[in-house]
Amino acid sequence: MELKDIKSLYKNELKEELLTMGLQGFRAYQIYKWLVGGVQSFDEMTNLSHQLREELKKKYYISHAKIERKLVSKIDGTVKYLFSFDDTTFVEAVVMSYHHGYTMCISSQDGCKMGCTFCATGKGGFRRNLTASELLSQIQSAQQDLNIRISNIVLMGMGEPLDNYDNVLRFLRLVSDSDGLNIGIRHISLSTCGIVDKIYELEKENLGITLSVSLHAPNDEIRSKTMPVNKKWNIEELLKACKSYSNTTKRRISFEYAMIEDVNDCDACANELGNRLQGMLCHVNLIPVNEVKGTNYKKSKLKRQQAFISILARYGITATVRRTLGSDINASCGQLAGKLQNI
Ligand code: SAH
Ligand code: SF4
Repeated sequence: MELKDIKSLYKNELKEELLTMGLQGFRAYQIYKWLVGGVQSFDEMTNLSHQLREELKKKYYISHAKIERKLVSKIDGTVKYLFSFDDTTFVEAVVMSYHHGYTMCISSQDGCKMGCTFCATGKGGFRRNLTASELLSQIQSAQQDLNIRISNIVLMGMGEPLDNYDNVLRFLRLVSDSDGLNIGIRHISLSTCGIVDKIYELEKENLGITLSVSLHAPNDEIRSKTMPVNKKWNIEELLKACKSYSNTTKRRISFEYAMIEDVNDCDACANELGNRLQGMLCHVNLIPVNEVKGTNYKKSKLKRQQAFISILARYGITATVRRTLGSDINASCGQLAGKLQNI
């Protein structure tokens, strides 16, 4: 019999399952708390009888993010992990320290199907979706390893979270549960390349998470060349979904814009972007593109970044250049896992 993923179950689901094994509600609660605490085996659940632990082992497994590699930035203390879940699944995550606490960037898939031309993860293809428990386990492993509490999460690591919608939604409910890791939903952001139908679904959930949208171009011509997803949902459709999301949730949308020299960084691009976003409840994050091996893309010059900020300001749009953390450890995701696969 295939073992079931016990850490992906909601509290009430666990209770119902254990009821069928003849166990009372308080047992489910005890087990749930052990799982939240980050145990890696049923034998660590010391307030359960030996017999019960053996029964649980026959039915369930506990997923765990094993630390394969860990890099610590000498500049700012940013920590980058390479985790494995089985012999073939490797993902990256990054822990950053800010004045308000620790923010962790986690992965939602091993690889990605979306094929953005500037992205290291996109270049490596897709292997599989991560389960809700595997998303939780990344946070648990980092918390245990660093002996800290993560207060903010960004789903901005490897993979497209809205292409793994059900598991990601389950994760969001589990991680924000007051008996769970208890990370407030308002402290969580999700970044998407623009899976429009799922943005509408997420809007209906009205969870209140912050949406980051990887726009990276002011028009369809440029965007379709760098982001194939644009051929399915163009910028107009994407921005319509974004407006609808921010109207319902009253949350500001963050637009990510990786600045690539001579591709999307001219004055005309900034004006076009300003025109499109004018009047929206939003913020633009400019990111000098990370130069990925196998691409010819170069970072935009500082002068271009400044020009973008001042042109966007004319349209009433605030834009900032994202602070780079962990630049000595290649802290942007996709690069470490990519290297490992090439070994
Ligand atoms: N799939 C999601 C989330 C993961 S990617 C998405 O695309 O939004 C996280 C962020 O890194 C996205 O904004 C993505 O566009 C950006 N990114 C990917 N490769 C990059 C690169 N080479 N330089 C700068 N940003 C990059
Ligand atoms: Fe996938 Fe995001 Fe990379 Fe595009 S930028 S390939 S959607 S991970």
